[in-house]
Amino acid sequence: MNDLMPTGDLLVATDQRHLIHPLHHAKDHANPKVFVSANGSMLRTADGREYIDGLSALWNVNIGHGRKELATAAAEQMEKLAYASAYAGYSNEPAIRLAERIVNLAYDNMAAVYFTTGGAESNESAFKFARYHWKRLGKPEKVKIISRRYGYHGVTLAAMSATSLPNYHKMFGPLVPEFLQVAPPYPYRWPGNGDAGIGAADAVEEAILAEGADTVAAIIAEPVMGSGGVIVPPPSYFPRLREICDRHEILLIADEVITGFGRTGQWFGLGHWGIQPDLFSFAKGVTSGYLPLGGVVVSRHIHQVIQDAPADEKFMHAATYSGHPVCCAVALANIDIIDKEGLVERAQVQGDRFRAGLETLLTLPAVGEVRGIGMLAAIELVEHKGSKAPAKGLGARVAAQAADRGLILRLRAAADGPPASGDTLCFAPPLPTSEVTLDRIVQITGESIQAAM
Ligand code: PLP
Repeated sequence: MNDLMPTGDLLVATDQRHLIHPLHHAKDHANPKVFVSANGSMLRTADGREYIDGLSALWNVNIGHGRKELATAAAEQMEKLAYASAYAGYSNEPAIRLAERIVNLAYDNMAAVYFTTGGAESNESAFKFARYHWKRLGKPEKVKIISRRYGYHGVTLAAMSATSLPNYHKMFGPLVPEFLQVAPPYPYRWPGNGDAGIGAADAVEEAILAEGADTVAAIIAEPVMGSGGVIVPPPSYFPRLREICDRHEILLIADEVITGFGRTGQWFGLGHWGIQPDLFSFAKGVTSGYLPLGGVVVSRHIHQVIQDAPADEKFMHAATYSGHPVCCAVALANIDIIDKEGLVERAQVQGDRFRAGLETLLTLPAVGEVRGIGMLAAIELVEHKGSKAPAKGLGARVAAQAADRGLILRLRAAADGPPASGDTLCFAPPLPTSEVTLDRIVQITGESIQAAM
């Protein structure tokens, strides 16, 4: 900060005058935390307070804050080649090396990567890959995209239209045509006694049959829904969904923006269920948020369709910052750390321990369910455990209590559904977070729920 920059209250006043924030609302921003530094799993604010980063900022700082290796990688690459076009006919070494590295880490059927600058752009690109693929194969009517309620895929228009959290639509509708949503595999809220995995996969098939398979391009699914409330599907879901997609010739797009790069205890989320998508999007954890980067990884089959295109059907999709050399160099340094420090395995082992800690809070009357996988976890709050009546408003009070006690977590506010759900507290600590800090998160969460009740 230089001498001309305002500090303290003046800085906040300047922010309030000139900065529009994501999810902006003046009331929510009356007393913002202005972050000035961070290290490991801790964030520090301008007023000198320390907070445990219970969400890895926005589910993205997988390796934790303050790793000098990434700063060095960025500085060295910036001095050497800060930017150059990666449009066809041009390339750069970090983008080439990163594409190879990601293909080698990803599902066996994957062949090639298209880079973007974030999650929404990755999903937009994935939808266009799907449509392109079918047009190239002489099926131009296959354009519809199916998604699941409680899914979150970003805020650009098509990604927003696949997102199925109604508060993201209310002030921005209408949705893009040809996007439709079906029931999520949400075991805690699945009606009746049936298997939510089978039922929710069959809901996709019903939608395909109702729309006509010859009009559907793809279904997009987060392996574990993140922003929708860390909803982990039953083991039956993805194998059945894969089989349905194959039977009806529908592409399966995995949105691995949160679940990629070790977060769930596998390099990529569908690894838990032994199936492969046709293409998948990634962002966030690829650089642990140190610089913006995302992308789409496509199967050998889709890659071949692109490679074989005649000149008049070429892939006219582009962005200035696709293959940005500095972002790619930082991603390579980030993946080195995840790999060398065994953070994927650590996410699994420490995640199980962390979840076991959160499960001790099930004794509290407001805690309806504790769920999660790897270093992703959530607590769904209820009015009554027996009826599972959703708690509304309690979550915001818990989050405020937690912040007072030095913990930042994320709230997924209660939704009317279907299915209706209660306020949900979400956790995604950095993968190297120590046991002491994970235990502290559990302790603060418990105290905060009790204080808020
Ligand atoms: N997809 C998922 C699963 C996400 O969680 C997010 C962001 O949280 C996105 C897409 C959008 O990513 P971005 O905010 O980088 O556009």
